[in-house]
Amino acid sequence: MFQANSDYLKLPGSYLFSTIAKKTNAYMAEHPDASLIRMGIGDVTQPLPPAVIEALHKAVDEMGRAETFRGYAPDLGYEFLRHAIAENDYRARGCEIADDEVFVSDGAKSDSGNIQEIFEKDNVIAVCDPVYPVYVDSNVMAGRTGEYDDKTTRWSNVVYMPCTEKNGFCPAFPDRTPDIIYICSPNNPTGTALNRQQLQIWVDYANANKAVIIFDSAYEAYICEDDIPHSIFECEGARTCAIEIKSFSKNAAFTGLRLGATIIPKDLKDGNGHDLYSLWARRHGTKYNGAPYIVQRAGEACYTEDGKQQIKEMVGRYMKNASFIKTSLKDMGYEVYGGVNSPYIWLKAPHDMTSWEFFDYLLDKAHVVGTPGSGFGPSGEHFFRLTSFGTYENSQEAMRRIKEL
Ligand SMILES: *Cc1c(COP(=O)(O)O)cnc(C)c1O
Repeated sequence: MFQANSDYLKLPGSYLFSTIAKKTNAYMAEHPDASLIRMGIGDVTQPLPPAVIEALHKAVDEMGRAETFRGYAPDLGYEFLRHAIAENDYRARGCEIADDEVFVSDGAKSDSGNIQEIFEKDNVIAVCDPVYPVYVDSNVMAGRTGEYDDKTTRWSNVVYMPCTEKNGFCPAFPDRTPDIIYICSPNNPTGTALNRQQLQIWVDYANANKAVIIFDSAYEAYICEDDIPHSIFECEGARTCAIEIKSFSKNAAFTGLRLGATIIPKDLKDGNGHDLYSLWARRHGTKYNGAPYIVQRAGEACYTEDGKQQIKEMVGRYMKNASFIKTSLKDMGYEVYGGVNSPYIWLKAPHDMTSWEFFDYLLDKAHVVGTPGSGFGPSGEHFFRLTSFGTYENSQEAMRRIKEL
């Protein structure tokens, strides 16, 4: 008889963000006049670029005329978008990716959660600590767990790789050889990025150990420094060990519109020799009926000259905030990471405070809400994440308040 996997009930789940909401609401109930500045959000605030809006309007009109109406989209994506992605995000950077190696989807969250379906159930996964929770949760929900340890609240088949100040937030190889390695660079939550050499070492490791790297490039558009790769396929040998997951959310404001893509080279096999390209095509075709036509046209518009320029300006505004927040905190004597190739600032709580103590302190004394680093994993303890997705004025006001503490 089918037995549902109840292991996932042991997951911390949405504990982090629900606790933040609870604490914030409780504070507001007691202090109704406090004007909060929310720097914990992982959502963008600037509206969609005009080129995208124009493409949406045009596509909507097409859908209303019999001659240009479109029904089901091809389940792997429209040619025009797969081509635009492969050409602009890959071939223009010297990465050999064919149009049909691009699988269009409704976003990086669903792809990063679903991609584990094409791997064997007994596979061991390795994740960074701190980590974007989707990678672990989706694997545990799928039963890729092994033994549960009550003391550490961890599963034996999930290997954590600490990312700390000591290793410059670049994980060391895990003790146990994993089958699947999740890497997000530039990283959420630490805001740090792997350089070309650091990523190449991971590609070589994966090839040598027949492991597959799942590379989340959601923050690629924030990269400013030359030696930070925009894609894992810039590394030699990545075609035989890597899958890349792309998002249109944080760069082009598609968080509410929904669009993403997953890149799987045709040469890619898992440790058992399974052809992952065909498996994902099969999985996608079975469980997914394609991103909406109008949204795929909107995605295509991101690659026009106007679209590119508008996205660059939008990201530039967030980066201006990031740079301001980072510099201000540094000037106040904080230890600060990230904020250069990323919209996230990762700072060390002062006076040895825990992440949650600092959360309460900032909320109470500065009316600034951020995200406790420990919520992303034990190595995040004593750290705190601020985002630059707000306005410049709010970023300034938040820094003014923190300075007065
Ligand atoms: C925001 C975020 C995503 C989600 O992207 P969507 O395309 O909106 O689903 C994926 N990965 C990381 C690390 C993120 O922070």
